[in-house]
Amino acid sequence: MNAAGRDPVDEEGFPSSSAQLPHEEEEEEEEEEEEEDEGSFAAEFYRCGSDWSCLLPPEKKRKQANLLEIWGLNSNINNDNNPNPSNKAKKPKQANLWQMWGLNNPSTDKVSNNNKTTNPPPPPPPTTTTPRACPFYKKIPGTPFTVDAFRYGAVQGCTAYFLTHFHYDHYGGLTKAWFHGPIYCTPLTARLLTLCLSLNSSFIHPLELDTEYVIDGVRVTLLDANHCPGAALIHFRLPNGQCYLHTGDFRASKLMQSYPLLLHHRVNVLYLDTTYCNPNYRFPSKEDVLSYIVRVTKISLKKQPKTLIVVGAYSIGKECVYLAISKALGVKIYANAARRRVLHSFNWPDLSSNLSTEAKDTSLHVLPISSLRFEILTDYLNNYRNQYAAILAFRPTGWTYSNKVGTELDLIKPNSRGSITIYGVPYSEHSSFTELREFVKFLKPDKIIPTVNVWNPTNRDKMESYFREWLKGERR
Ligand SMILES: [Zn+2]
Repeated sequence: MNAAGRDPVDEEGFPSSSAQLPHEEEEEEEEEEEEEDEGSFAAEFYRCGSDWSCLLPPEKKRKQANLLEIWGLNSNINNDNNPNPSNKAKKPKQANLWQMWGLNNPSTDKVSNNNKTTNPPPPPPPTTTTPRACPFYKKIPGTPFTVDAFRYGAVQGCTAYFLTHFHYDHYGGLTKAWFHGPIYCTPLTARLLTLCLSLNSSFIHPLELDTEYVIDGVRVTLLDANHCPGAALIHFRLPNGQCYLHTGDFRASKLMQSYPLLLHHRVNVLYLDTTYCNPNYRFPSKEDVLSYIVRVTKISLKKQPKTLIVVGAYSIGKECVYLAISKALGVKIYANAARRRVLHSFNWPDLSSNLSTEAKDTSLHVLPISSLRFEILTDYLNNYRNQYAAILAFRPTGWTYSNKVGTELDLIKPNSRGSITIYGVPYSEHSSFTELREFVKFLKPDKIIPTVNVWNPTNRDKMESYFREWLKGERR
């Protein structure tokens, strides 16, 4: 393209070009694991009588008593087996939980990382290659499985590493040098692992959606997560009958309430994407936002026919935004070579057949969402000043939602400077607060483990209170 040297999109290929793209996952809450004392987090989070009995098979009830003692939690089992209530005052020890699950012990790792202690014996000096400990909520109890846990090196006892989808904050840590164990994911995500990370294919095990597989004695089924391409919910059915559902990232929908697996098998533990578990986020449906974007585009083109339409996107995700514009205007989609390779790998005929290799051939361009800034877009427009007089850009993310606008999308005020107009539109691939509530009320799990925004105690308390409210009433 003629924008060489100016185009903020690197033409050198994925992922080097997209090394910046995955980090744009601004809908993905940052994971500040290393900043927190994990033991205190776990203890705090599961206090207040949270019932963990669902996490252990019936034959391990006696061990459950120990777990509850350790965390100072309330339990009938505890009372039966240990009449001494003073044990409740014991300091929580995360280590015992990990032992019970037969998994890695983060406390041990933490100790070995503490090279400031003055008490002998001194721990071995830390090395720069020592991985962080895997958080407990990334491990599926009663199984040798982890989910989206690739930043921790080899997780002790883990025989299967599940990947919910190809967003950096979930696959982070995976490189072509990966050798710690088999990775299970959807076929689309598997293709991206090969294409973008050059992962050794012998480690990649694609699982078709809606198909039950038996892995290490556990029945595993991947279900469409209504998030980015290839994203899956993971349903685990253990030999003891316990069912766990890990949502990865997802946007809950009515359709999910018709998934036979969710209808017919009670979910005991729900690992929930709580990105927008906040009543301030009640954004409109994706369909409504797409209609609005098409409407705004058509109005803008009437006013200024020489307008270049730009859609901001992550490495993957938001494809429906530019597909909707493409269909409504009857124009092709320009994306740089790196992004085109990724988009073609989806095997979506509608998308592949509408991609253009020449920027000058179409008025609809896809750029990294981080490049939707006035300075960058002004430069970008300059590259095409012979063709276009203005840029209309859309920044689709749930974070642009505001209560003032609510579902009245026509109240959205764009940011304009000179010939550049940028619309923040609340197109989200995560569940809104109301969608989360409806999904949880449908599933009625025994226990919910939030996976996003969990490192702030205030957030945790708020989410716990919502969960308690949602789980009231009759079980299905
Ligand atoms: Zn994601």
